[in-house]
Amino acid sequence: MTPKTVARTVVVGGGAAGIGAAGAAKAAAPGDEVVVYTEYEDCAYSPCGIPYVHGKEIPDFDRLFLAGKEAYVEAGIDIHYERKVTGLDLARHQVTVEGEGDVGWDRLVIATGFDYADPGVPGSDLEGLYYVKNIRRAMEWDKVLDHTKVAVVIEASPLGLEMVTALPHRGIETHLVDPHPWALAEAADADIVAPVEESWAEMGVKMHFNTRLEEFLGDARGDGGVSPQGKSGHVRGVRTSEGELPADLVVICTKKTPRNDLAAAAGIAIGSTGGIIVDETMATSCAGVWAAGDCIEVPHGVSNVPLQGLSGSHAYAQGKVAGTNAAGGRRKYQPVYVPWGMVAGKWMIGGVSFGETLATALGIPYVLGKAQGISRARYYPDMKKITVKLLAEPKTLRLIGAQMVGGEGIKERADFLAMAVKVGITLEDLAYMENVYSPPIGALNEPIALAAQNGLANAASASKG
Ligand SMILES: Cc1cc2nc3c(=O)[nH]c(=O)nc-3n(C[C@H](O)[C@H](O)[C@H](O)COP(=O)(O)OP(=O)(O)OC[C@H]3O[C@@H](n4cnc5c(N)ncnc54)[C@H](O)[C@@H]3O)c2cc1C
Repeated sequence: MTPKTVARTVVVGGGAAGIGAAGAAKAAAPGDEVVVYTEYEDCAYSPCGIPYVHGKEIPDFDRLFLAGKEAYVEAGIDIHYERKVTGLDLARHQVTVEGEGDVGWDRLVIATGFDYADPGVPGSDLEGLYYVKNIRRAMEWDKVLDHTKVAVVIEASPLGLEMVTALPHRGIETHLVDPHPWALAEAADADIVAPVEESWAEMGVKMHFNTRLEEFLGDARGDGGVSPQGKSGHVRGVRTSEGELPADLVVICTKKTPRNDLAAAAGIAIGSTGGIIVDETMATSCAGVWAAGDCIEVPHGVSNVPLQGLSGSHAYAQGKVAGTNAAGGRRKYQPVYVPWGMVAGKWMIGGVSFGETLATALGIPYVLGKAQGISRARYYPDMKKITVKLLAEPKTLRLIGAQMVGGEGIKERADFLAMAVKVGITLEDLAYMENVYSPPIGALNEPIALAAQNGLANAASASKG
């Protein structure tokens, strides 16, 4: 009898996508070998919780760890920590690993994730510039926050919003510098983030919109040289297009860019966003190679525009598809509608697909329905207001996007509306939807239905005009 051969799946990356892929590959072919390489000291932790430990809403970093290293050993997944992959040889089916040399693979999953975009200004070699990502570094930076008096957050990205909310909780004077006219301007509409900005102002945050970062300012080291880490001095502020701001610490929250260097150097096709191109099975342009997570691009379900750098939940789901298929299974990943939601200041904001600003920028026509409703019965304590905006395709009135701001209940509505967009629900369906009315958890009039009714009225008056 011929001995059964054990195939080896190599996964480059130990983030949400890489771990999702490794687990799925093992589940699909338990007898096969699954090897993961990560530059970091850890795998199974949630980076998403880091801003909330910094803000002291979560008491310690230990809670962010999901599983110990032994859990992967028991699951038969061979994780190589602090091992950087420096090259992919597709012809010879090998990865080159720092400290290990060339390692062969039968199937390869690339899950190299993202980097924050380089601010591209002088002074980026100073100490005191914090890129929030690795949990070990976050633990070190958390101690720095104990004696930070003034911090500048660069860019009102999702992470920027979280950090701008977290730092004042530590008593730190917080400045936000962003080149756009309002926070999260590439995703959210101005009226949706206006309450967030008001609550930041109440918290003492100093907002500098329409303001470009021009330089990190620092005090040079006494010896005029650089530290062993290559740092030429410590940051003391930033120079912006609107003047200088002092800072003990600068948190860089620029756009997420795909880490595609290994894939690109190996000749794997890269798309217009810089993300690796994959098909619905997460297969790349090269046979035997799959990719997942923030290093890839996937099509948006409404506009078909390729999107990159979505979220941890997208990365994990994509990793599952890639890992399953790499191990011989058959799974497909569908276009995305991108439900999103977060806490910012004293509010929750969220949505799906796009709001008015992005739809306008993409040249997508829409009918708008907007209404303010409430999260619980009007007489129930702690009832919160919720503003809902719905965008629908003018002819069919099919929902194509939504944005919301409120005191609670945003995540569930964003998830529901994402499914509504996906399956082609119309404003009419939503205007007369059934809804839960229970005083502590839901009002008689569902805010989504109110917004849809307003949208129908707008559509009717537009057709008369
Ligand atoms: C502070 C923070 C907050 C977040 N908040 C949320 C949230 O609230 N909700 C949400 O859904 N998502 C959140 N995310 C997730 C995030 O935005 C990404 O979408 C997610 O991390 C993408 O996962 P990934 O596995 O594709 O990439 P990454 O997380 O970037 O992981 C990449 C992995 O690849 C490894 N790697 C890269 N290159 C190499 C190489 N050459 N050799 C070896 N290893 C390599 C890295 O070590 C790392 O393990 C947050 C992330 C951070 C950092």
